[in-house]
Amino acid sequence: MMMSKHVPIPTEWQADFLLKQYSLSHRLGYSLSGVVLVFLPIFTILDATLVSYADGELIWKHILFRLPAVILAITFLLLHHKKDPGFWAYPLLLTLNLSIVGMMAAMFVLHYSEQGGRLLYITQGLTLVIITVATATVYGVRDLALIYGLPLTAVIAFIVFSGSPFPDNPIHLTFIPAAIGIGVVIATMLYQEHQRTFIASQQLEHSALTDALTGLPNRRSMQTDLQAEWSRAKREEQYFAVLMADLDRFKAVNDQHGHEVGDEVLTILATRFTNTLRGGDRVARWGGEEFLLLIPSATEESAMAVAEKVRRAVAEPPFATSAGNLAVTLSLGVALHRQTESIDEVISRADKALYRAKQEGRNRAVLAGD
Ligand code: GH3
Ligand code: MG
Ligand code: MG
Repeated sequence: MMMSKHVPIPTEWQADFLLKQYSLSHRLGYSLSGVVLVFLPIFTILDATLVSYADGELIWKHILFRLPAVILAITFLLLHHKKDPGFWAYPLLLTLNLSIVGMMAAMFVLHYSEQGGRLLYITQGLTLVIITVATATVYGVRDLALIYGLPLTAVIAFIVFSGSPFPDNPIHLTFIPAAIGIGVVIATMLYQEHQRTFIASQQLEHSALTDALTGLPNRRSMQTDLQAEWSRAKREEQYFAVLMADLDRFKAVNDQHGHEVGDEVLTILATRFTNTLRGGDRVARWGGEEFLLLIPSATEESAMAVAEKVRRAVAEPPFATSAGNLAVTLSLGVALHRQTESIDEVISRADKALYRAKQEGRNRAVLAGD
């Protein structure tokens, strides 16, 4: 097969992918509208000056067929200044594509019964638009089913039911299925490429925000969360709590069992955190063996309860490492955010409380004062 394996978008990224497809529709539609508004007037002028029609009405019919595509293209350009990608962009792009193929299909039907060279021009035009619209699709064959399917079914139905004789020189008609085949390949490859680049960029973003050892969010990721929580707290007058957690005497683990066992401890610790915390709570690896826990909508009591729960979940049972079962304990500094406080200030108070927890004997949680 010339096309490589289809990679589906993971469920958790599908909403983001949808937004990307809207914004892609927006950009494609904008470019296509430019092409339509440049070429359709040119073709109309050439049509009116270079082609001699016995029937004067024909030129007006051609203009009529071109009108929907021109109106949709103008609509696209007018909506372009809306900043958000907008749900409208995708259906509008489909309709624009449909109107472009429909325009040539209608001309094809109009001239089908003539036996002259005009049908040849029209067939070339039809071939051209079939390939052009394939480059302006976002969902591959799914889009083409509508864009090609509707007008071409109408054309075939006309040929079958009109009883018009088959053209003298039907060889050029074979360009149409060939163009459809090329269009299907182009649209499929573009769609797969959109998916691949989307997945690659999501993975990159994910790895930039994740700690490689523990799989927890990293400091950078937590900084974004803190910022969001800080803004929310300001708006809604809700308080969040910051828990700074640090392993007790962790240097000793490294010294006695080696760095690899130390790494194992950090990994096990990460699962204890995630198993203990509730849905809205977040934890990140803040530094080497230091973790920051963010508890939204907290009180001093609830924050201390979380800290105590986490402390107990670490202290018992011992950590099963390759060096055997190790007793591990954790100290925590707990600070409840105050309305006037910056993020750095609340973290600094949590740090000071952690320092006190260490001084008071470790394996405990201490609530920050001023
Ligand atoms: P305290 O109870 O006062 O916190 O004592 P401690 O030994 O835990 O504190 P200290 O800050 O002196 O030591 C932290 C140690 O954590 C030192 C460093 O080697 C170790 N560490 C930091 N990051 C990693 C890591 O990624 N893997 C391993 N194995 N060790 C790490
Ligand atoms: Mg430390
Ligand atoms: Mg430590």
